[in-house]
Amino acid sequence: MSTPVLPPLRDMLASLIAINSISSASPQLDQSNQPVIHQLATWFELLGFKVDLMPVHTAHSKKLNLIARYGEGHGGLVLAGHTDTVPCDEHLWQSNPFQLTERDNAYFGLGICDMKGFFPLILEAVKPLLSQKFQCPLIVVATADEETSMDGARALVEAQQKLGRFALIGEPTNMKPINMHKGIMMERVVIHGSSGHSSDPSLGNNALDAMYYVLGDLIQFRQQLAKQFNNPLFTVPSPTMNLGCIHGGDNPNRICGSCELAFDLRPLPGMSTENLRESIQKRLALIAEQHSIDIEFNPLFPSVEAFETPAQSPFVQFCQQLTQHEAESVAFATEAPFLNALGMDTVVLGPGDIAKAHQPDECLPLSRINPFIKILQRLIHHYCITSPNVQTT
Ligand SMILES: [Zn+2]
Repeated sequence: MSTPVLPPLRDMLASLIAINSISSASPQLDQSNQPVIHQLATWFELLGFKVDLMPVHTAHSKKLNLIARYGEGHGGLVLAGHTDTVPCDEHLWQSNPFQLTERDNAYFGLGICDMKGFFPLILEAVKPLLSQKFQCPLIVVATADEETSMDGARALVEAQQKLGRFALIGEPTNMKPINMHKGIMMERVVIHGSSGHSSDPSLGNNALDAMYYVLGDLIQFRQQLAKQFNNPLFTVPSPTMNLGCIHGGDNPNRICGSCELAFDLRPLPGMSTENLRESIQKRLALIAEQHSIDIEFNPLFPSVEAFETPAQSPFVQFCQQLTQHEAESVAFATEAPFLNALGMDTVVLGPGDIAKAHQPDECLPLSRINPFIKILQRLIHHYCITSPNVQTT
């Protein structure tokens, strides 16, 4: 019997693109990522990796994280990515989003750069290196639900999963190393007053009136944060707060009984989402007391912390050297803060372009594939194959 061999790179990319692994808050669109995980497990096992699957319990279906290890020992290099994609507007695509298509010197398909396409590149990179002795392990992590709740990454942190010492996430960054991004909080304020006839204000307690003070206070808090925190390495150097939508009341001649506001807040590295929430809670409590009204304050989804791996980290330095680019910040959030929370120096670095992600005709230029595979090989060589004592400090 002949030993099964890994399919060619293009076929692996095509197989993953053909599997719908959309994650969505809407149950009609949400798909389990299990078929992608099982496909990856088969390929990594073919190369001799030891594969563990971790169940991730999400709102609509059972999903999985995959942890594939090659080599023994402590430390090591983690290559991480998510297996889900965002939904797509199929009618706006020039080709079928679930069929790998090559045109204009690029591969097209949903998830090709953001970011199922990362895993076949890892397989292709590591395959010729396996004849050498690994001093430190190479660990591949494939997560569930990054595009929605980040529940896959949260599950890794909850389990305090022992992974490696350094981690690279292959999100689309145009081959530039990224060592920081802002966090994301999405919050909801609901003011409960009481309705009544508009002709006599004493017949109710107007929630819209109280919202006027809440809005003023949040805007003041925003200005305060912008004065207090500033990082010139970000395109928008201050933390931001966007008052996104507001709903309240029904008729001009009724006292508004309840009013709801949703806003997002994007903290800089060094700001904790928990502290921010506490400060806002205190400010709202004061307004509630002054206006004898109930104010409810809660997150719309669990927040993502800001992320920073210090520029002096040897891993950031090595990624800079490999790519000939200074590490930068990006405007989008990733799973990096969760990997950092597990004690790893994390860098986000991938071959795609974020401007091509989350929209019709997502693509990966063919010219990026070999240079990126070379980067992965140099990382694996440096952190897993050569002497760990010298290289991983
Ligand atoms: Zn992504």
